[in-house]
Amino acid sequence: MAKKSNSSNHCSFCGRSEQEVNLLISGMTGYICDMCAEQAHAIVDETFKGNKKNDLGIKLESLPKPAQIKEFLDQYVIRQENAKRFLSVAVYNHYKRILQKNLKDEVEIEKSNIIMVGATGTGKTLLARTIAKLLHVPFTIVDATVLTEAGYVGEDIESILTRLLQVADYDVNAAERGIVFIDEIDKIARKSDNPSITRDVSGEGVQQGLLKLLEGSVVNVPPQGGRKHPEQRMIAVNTKNILFICGGAFDGIDKKIAQRLNTRVVGYAASSQKANIDRDNMLQYITPLDLKSFGLIPEIIGRLPILTYLEPLDREALLRILIEPKNSIIKQYQKLFEMDGVALSFEQEAYEYIVDKAIEFKLGARGLRSIVEAIMIDAMFSIPSEEKKKLHVTRKYAVQQLEKSDHHHLRVA
Ligand code: ADP
Repeated sequence: MAKKSNSSNHCSFCGRSEQEVNLLISGMTGYICDMCAEQAHAIVDETFKGNKKNDLGIKLESLPKPAQIKEFLDQYVIRQENAKRFLSVAVYNHYKRILQKNLKDEVEIEKSNIIMVGATGTGKTLLARTIAKLLHVPFTIVDATVLTEAGYVGEDIESILTRLLQVADYDVNAAERGIVFIDEIDKIARKSDNPSITRDVSGEGVQQGLLKLLEGSVVNVPPQGGRKHPEQRMIAVNTKNILFICGGAFDGIDKKIAQRLNTRVVGYAASSQKANIDRDNMLQYITPLDLKSFGLIPEIIGRLPILTYLEPLDREALLRILIEPKNSIIKQYQKLFEMDGVALSFEQEAYEYIVDKAIEFKLGARGLRSIVEAIMIDAMFSIPSEEKKKLHVTRKYAVQQLEKSDHHHLRVA
């Protein structure tokens, strides 16, 4: 075994004496100094990086199957069956594709980027964040609202990949097999179906830029992002194998879907088809055509072959969201109180009151937290310095606390 030498000896690699180095480690027949050891380590690292070029250390057998991925999502996300199934399959197929690259197979599996359409606060970002927890490849979430055409205020398209490089620790090979979630993709839609004559800073130009990434091309990425460091050296990243998942609210698209359904059904089997339309959840009928009439260019739509939707959350869904998920809001507050040795419980009617208020304030799932916060603030302030070991929140207590709190700001949020 190597041990620290205790006589005046020399490093067998660089010849420096024990006095000239910080540490001299002895082996069976020679010595190595700290500097040479570090260099040797770097050489080993470099060598292995080369060998691992196409190997992320993942095996298909040991990866979660689509059904297992969905089961995992079920623990955190309520409802949204359609989106969960599509996401699970897409992620699993993504693994297959990047593993296949190693085998140099003749049938090349093409990637299937995804677009998820759903009103704000229905769980798009939550789905993306949750799936990230079990991914074996680099993953990042970027916001499309900050993207503008090169030369304008905002971020260049390439900055999407900066984040991915950062989470991959600048390992380009790993980043090139990663997954990017682009949130608010609807914000780069053209304002109308007709290309405008005036310059459209955040519209078509950005879509053209994004198209390049989706199609797969070698892109020069600023490693630090932004345009603040014009002197920085660019890193070339090939986007061919990067999976893109896009999400957007597409406000008003339900009207376009309704329009299309009505015009289409006229003429054949009109009455029976119309009768079956579920007006509360128009997004389930979405097709690529609707994305086009919303203002996405056909080329982009073509590069997002999987189109899925999120359903609106009704009262029952909100109630479940409040209580059921693994890290539900209620469970989080119970944890907070538990850390002070206080058992926190709620009356069923208190839950129902919280949900009704979220609906009344038109806040959806996003509003649940602020309402619970307003109800719990007094207790959170005083209980840590009291002797109490239990707190049971009744509907009466919840009403009293919420009415007392200055909750008017909740209404406009
Ligand atoms: P979106 O990205 O669709 O606008 P988010 O995923 O950011 O919405 O949802 C906002 C918050 O609402 C989440 O952090 C989560 O607490 C809650 N939420 C929304 N939808 C769901 C859902 N289907 N299941 C569980 N929680 C949800």
